[in-house]
Amino acid sequence: MRFRTLIALCCLSASFHACIAEAEWFEATESIMGTRVHAEVWHEQAEVAERVLDDVMAEMRRIDATYSPFIETSELSKLNREAPEGWVQTTREMLDLLARSARVSRLTGGAFDITYASVGRYYDFREGQRPDDATLIEGLAAINYEYVEIDTLAQRVRFTHPLVYIDLGGIAKGYAVDRCIALIEARGIDQAAVAAGGDSRIIGDRRGEPWTVGIQDPRNDDVMAALLPLVDTAVSTSGDYERFFVEDGVRYHHIIDPRTGDSARDSWSVTILGKEATFTDALSTSVFVLGPEKGLELINSLPGVDAIIIDASGKLLYSADLAEAAGQQPTAVAPQRGLH
Ligand code: AMP
Ligand code: MG
Repeated sequence: MRFRTLIALCCLSASFHACIAEAEWFEATESIMGTRVHAEVWHEQAEVAERVLDDVMAEMRRIDATYSPFIETSELSKLNREAPEGWVQTTREMLDLLARSARVSRLTGGAFDITYASVGRYYDFREGQRPDDATLIEGLAAINYEYVEIDTLAQRVRFTHPLVYIDLGGIAKGYAVDRCIALIEARGIDQAAVAAGGDSRIIGDRRGEPWTVGIQDPRNDDVMAALLPLVDTAVSTSGDYERFFVEDGVRYHHIIDPRTGDSARDSWSVTILGKEATFTDALSTSVFVLGPEKGLELINSLPGVDAIIIDASGKLLYSADLAEAAGQQPTAVAPQRGLH
């Protein structure tokens, strides 16, 4: 799992440690939400830094316990069990995350759709299993984000099709990263990074240098396809090499086209840069489904959002702002916003 991690946060320059004796970097790494969670903060006091890192990991575990479809006692599992029968009271937080998911669904013409799991639940990438034709056809009828009805006032949710099953795997890691960054900022810390698998967010720079975020080569675990120097940015990568199996030469992986119930195959990887990880997470999944052409069209219409796509022939494609910046700096891809 560790070697499959999409985003590698690495330090460009560590030599300044010696210059500022009082402050230093503190970091923590754990395996949560089925992925590697990593946080780094710059602080003068070890006690404060360690407390905030503990709080970050506790928040990650809380979000996993609340939103995992694999944990029977999670609030999400309760919804999946009860919401096809009628209204279920939810927390304000759940309601907000469902509402944000619905907004991304509308923005992407349904490419992002948490009800994809009405079919997606029948894939087992570890076991190499996929739904048979009857299951696929039955489940497809239940894929439609409009089947998730949200009653904001009464704070309740119901599914208006009996076979709807939802999964927040395309947005929850980014959401968790944003929550943890908020925790860190609330302590007055202004240089930090948090990553949950392929979703990361950086606040500030790395003591005067940008952070470097690597985009993995989708067909070679040990190679980086691009290195991005970044400050104050959220970045998410979705790739077809994270969870997959190959059957008769066809790659089945975890990003599902809601129109077909099959894996989306127009890209190998999609990286989105933006302000908030909740949004970049959902958008990386969406653009993967949309394919490079429609995906870039969408990204170019969104202010403050950039994309780097590796298409199904292995070619690197950039959103308009990035293409311009990369043209000026051929050795490094740099977004216009948030650069040093
Ligand atoms: P990411 O790695 O952020 O692209 O997230 C992939 C995860 O998103 C999958 O493991 C699923 O849990 C979920 N997912 C897959 N396809 C979709 C889709 N079309 N819309 C929303 N979520 C999806
Ligand atoms: Mg995503």
